[in-house]
Amino acid sequence: MPFINRLHQLESKLQVKSPIVLSNCRVFFDFDNTMTTSDVLDDVIRRFSINDQWVVLEKAWNEEKIGTKECLEGQLRNVRVTKSALHKFFKKIELDPHFHQLLALLVREGIKPVILSDNFTYVVELILEYHGINDLKVYGNNLRFYRDHIIPSFPYDNPFCLTCAHCKKIHLTKDKTEDKLIVYVGDGRSDFCPARVSDIVFAKDNLLRFMTKEELPCIPYKDLGDVHHYFQEVLIHDRQNH
Ligand SMILES: [Mg+2]
Repeated sequence: MPFINRLHQLESKLQVKSPIVLSNCRVFFDFDNTMTTSDVLDDVIRRFSINDQWVVLEKAWNEEKIGTKECLEGQLRNVRVTKSALHKFFKKIELDPHFHQLLALLVREGIKPVILSDNFTYVVELILEYHGINDLKVYGNNLRFYRDHIIPSFPYDNPFCLTCAHCKKIHLTKDKTEDKLIVYVGDGRSDFCPARVSDIVFAKDNLLRFMTKEELPCIPYKDLGDVHHYFQEVLIHDRQNH
């Protein structure tokens, strides 16, 4: 379906009074597998675990027997890596090749996107810094190093929900004003809750399957080039030309 038709469909589903325009949106990104081409935290655990305990925990997490916090705490207990080895590892992490272009477009439109991650704020900021991005607000989990151990803590944990380590929904709902639409771009389980309270959702992989199953409106995407295209062609130019 062409993007413009999808937009009209969204507008009618959302019952918005005025047309959706980019300047009236707040934009939020998930990090792992959305802004990056891989799941960074999974890669760290695979690469630096001293045994295969992480596999057992991952299986329990996939079967929804344990939440992300329990899974992550257990997996990191068996990780041994120094800060400098980790930094070296992060230098190889690639961002989606379209992210810079998408960010430039958003900034031109006066929007500073916010990153909501179930990874660690330190890790996300470091990877972004390696790619020349220094000024985006990142909300994630906390970590500290003790020798070759990584000790996690969870400042945005929701004690009433065991699913995620970082309850991303908190950041969407705390500043929600009636005149701003929330745009959310994600791919995984920690994006399910924020997607439910967002107005426009770009979804792939697990998030797309979830949105489809729940019959919630969303825009499927393969990579951030699709999201860039949507913003470029629909939210800016098509509106100006109609
Ligand atoms: Mg993700």
